[in-house]
Amino acid sequence: MRLATLCLPLVLGVAAALAGCAAYGDEIEPEPATPTPARPAPRPVAVTVRRPDGGSTPLREWRGSSHIHTGHSHDSWGTLGEITLAGLRTGRDFVILTEHNNGATQDWAGQHGPLLVVAGTEISTDFGHMIVLGTNERHHVHGLTPQEYIEAAHAVGGVAYLAHPNPWGRRGWEDWSLIEGVDGLEVVNMYTDLLDQGAAILTRGFVQQFIGGRPGSRAMAIDPGGMLETYDRMTRSGRRLTLLSGSNAHGPIHVAGGEIASYEAMFHIAGLRLFAPRLAERDLIAAIRDGRAYVGYDGEAPADGFRLLATSGDVVETMGGWLPLHEEGVMIRATSPAASRCTIVLFRNGEEIARIDDARRLERTVTEPGVYRVECRLDGDPWVLANPVYVGTPPDRRLDRWKSAREGR
Ligand SMILES: [Zn+2]
Ligand SMILES: [Zn+2]
Repeated sequence: MRLATLCLPLVLGVAAALAGCAAYGDEIEPEPATPTPARPAPRPVAVTVRRPDGGSTPLREWRGSSHIHTGHSHDSWGTLGEITLAGLRTGRDFVILTEHNNGATQDWAGQHGPLLVVAGTEISTDFGHMIVLGTNERHHVHGLTPQEYIEAAHAVGGVAYLAHPNPWGRRGWEDWSLIEGVDGLEVVNMYTDLLDQGAAILTRGFVQQFIGGRPGSRAMAIDPGGMLETYDRMTRSGRRLTLLSGSNAHGPIHVAGGEIASYEAMFHIAGLRLFAPRLAERDLIAAIRDGRAYVGYDGEAPADGFRLLATSGDVVETMGGWLPLHEEGVMIRATSPAASRCTIVLFRNGEEIARIDDARRLERTVTEPGVYRVECRLDGDPWVLANPVYVGTPPDRRLDRWKSAREGR
């Protein structure tokens, strides 16, 4: 056990270093730039959603990384300076800090130049780890049940979601009946995924980078197949749940005069896109709660600019939205990041219903109620994992939806 604890971060580090150097080693100036105070760059409106009640909201795409540890966690030595620098170098708009069982980084929350720092907590419950955001608490009460943490977060407008819940991996979630109202799942958690698949990733990275001539970072696009199946099973009965990623970055490991698994390398591999009117903590938390998000594997290629648009009569929605179903159906249109060619796949309740290769766009009119989500793939690797739109019955977070999903599997 102790040997594994010592060795596995090394595997992760080498893999992350492999990914990082290959992909952007030539593009970044070696001298760190000091973050300079500046207002966030204005982002264009990505989509204006129009709800059934007639209200509308313009949403912008914000790029960030979530689930990050610093020296305020027992297993990290990272600093805020390292994180903000990595955030600026990788074009993040936001980073979400999640210290183990404390909110000590609340002092750092706020705008740091163009980078918004959100400070939350990763709570170790008896059943697994849970990310809580928006409570602004420095010291969390220990020993509550997952359900109590969820309710406490919701009571103050925060969110609670499961970190690395992968039930067959390390530190997975153990009892899925105690999470009524939970807001989401880390379908992708880079650190634990790497620990679970480190050897395979190293092999794949070596083959891709040194034999195939492709960026080694592509090896890090780990297909979360099993977790996606779990996600689909949980949502297919109409239970609202946000599909999320976590870097679980712990900062650089210094080895032989160099460093591996830096924040920058981890941020580069994959990131979370949130759609919100403004770059502000409350808006980003609402985007997580509402599922206005997608996961992008930037190690494959920059994953900015993916769009999912769904229309039903006057209602216009994007990821996380709900649309009523009329006779003419709901038109779903997915556009690849930067309008690049890729394979685009549309799922209904976890079943593939449409696929188009070497394309920039997929359009399909659907006439059945269901939970519709989209993936983009490059050469078979995951590139974009998008949150679904809900067609027909409005989704909710009640447990009975989840229970019926479990019984139906
Ligand atoms: Zn954890
Ligand atoms: Zn963690």
